[in-house]
Amino acid sequence: MIPASTFAAKTVAVFGLGGSGIATARALIAGGAAVVAWDDNPESVARAGDEGVETRDLRAVNWKDFDALVLAPGVPLTHPRPHWSVELARAAGVEIIGDIELFARERRARAPDAPFIAITGTNGKSTTTALIAHVLKAAGRDVQMGGNIGRAVMTLEPPAAGRHYVVECSSYQIDLAPTLDPSAGILLNLSPDHLDRHGTMEDYAAIKERLVAGSDTAIVGMDDAHCRTIAARLEQAGRKMARISVTQTLEEGFFARDAMLLRAEGGRTERLFTLEGIGSLRGRHNAQNALAALAACLPCGLAIEEIRAGFESFPGLAHRMEQVGRLKHVLFVNDSKATNADAAGRALSSFPRVYWIAGGLPKESGIGSLRPFFGRVAKAYLVGEAAPAFAATLGEATEYEISGTIEAAVEHAARDAAGDPAGEVVVLLSPACASFDQFRNFEVRGEAFRDAVLSLSGVETLGETME
Ligand code: ADP
Repeated sequence: MIPASTFAAKTVAVFGLGGSGIATARALIAGGAAVVAWDDNPESVARAGDEGVETRDLRAVNWKDFDALVLAPGVPLTHPRPHWSVELARAAGVEIIGDIELFARERRARAPDAPFIAITGTNGKSTTTALIAHVLKAAGRDVQMGGNIGRAVMTLEPPAAGRHYVVECSSYQIDLAPTLDPSAGILLNLSPDHLDRHGTMEDYAAIKERLVAGSDTAIVGMDDAHCRTIAARLEQAGRKMARISVTQTLEEGFFARDAMLLRAEGGRTERLFTLEGIGSLRGRHNAQNALAALAACLPCGLAIEEIRAGFESFPGLAHRMEQVGRLKHVLFVNDSKATNADAAGRALSSFPRVYWIAGGLPKESGIGSLRPFFGRVAKAYLVGEAAPAFAATLGEATEYEISGTIEAAVEHAARDAAGDPAGEVVVLLSPACASFDQFRNFEVRGEAFRDAVLSLSGVETLGETME
């Protein structure tokens, strides 16, 4: 745990007592702060009390007593409307921050030179975070990974010289971190998402921009217009920057030509190495993640060869293009995390011939945007509430069936793929939907897929991934 010593002798309100909220409260207490915590859910309040955190209804306290409100990232700061605790803090002039801000302050106070790589973007955050942590670890570095990827940042080991922090930041977390100052900040890409929580695309992009604007070196994806605008602004402000692209040749920066990674520097372009054959980094979207990792690991002093070796041994993350099994010429891939059409499109574009399992709780945008990939779909197996709507979009051009459940879909897709004369084919779960109609979350959906695949007779299990 990281004691939040920068809050010693201060009085802090903590609102939002999920796992990370309680961890944050404990870090503040360990640092010497007086903490008063609350949640709208009485069970969470009770749990915090059991863990020795003082709880009090924050509607019935004097806010002038507080030095800060530490808010859990799930609690609305602005949209659809500020939470009542936010309004009370604002009315009393109390600053509102989150756990990433506590971490940034602690690092500045204790070990300002400890490398701190912060990662954000609309898609690919977790993969890039896990990849960077893996590469640094494989090269023998002392690495702590956390943030939005799972482990609350204040539960990591305390900042120390030579300790590397690799921290995934959601837009909510950045919004609550006014002095975020990573040594390397990565902004992978920006497309409309979570606008219910941020209002407009401009607001959402402005929050993400803060992560790179505050970093010593900004690593920015050049493959969408929002990020390009941000890169131009950073350049104008004279910030140190590494550009990355998987769609264009850059004059300065890191870019990919198919699976080959290249570096352009001082008028010279150099081929570095290829991602060909690295199953966990398949597809153009993963080339973007790999370029970001490359640009972040080089300033840490890693050699190109060490980075290449780290990529090669990267097991990949569960539920993201995870290769779970093989049955002769059929590869089974679990991409349950693809909860929107954009992410499913990346997956479909990674394979020439796909038996595609899709559906779940539909998103408003549907799968119309995936039409360019329908030619790759040998047959679609539709599940969940979205099935009729997806069937209508697929129309007559693409063969499909309404399978209903993941289990039926796997069984039918495996049977059809086994008889495919094309040779190497893929059965892909990439739902383009949320999971909540049939499953608790995308992880449980991915497990159901994996279990169904591994129960097929004669299937070979493929490697372990990082959870
Ligand atoms: P995040 O943490 O940002 O949600 P993940 O790494 O968990 O991202 O990946 C989520 C989904 O997005 C996966 O289905 C994956 O195939 C897809 N994806 C991964 N990297 C990218 C990228 N750079 N651009 C677009 N989609 C991506």
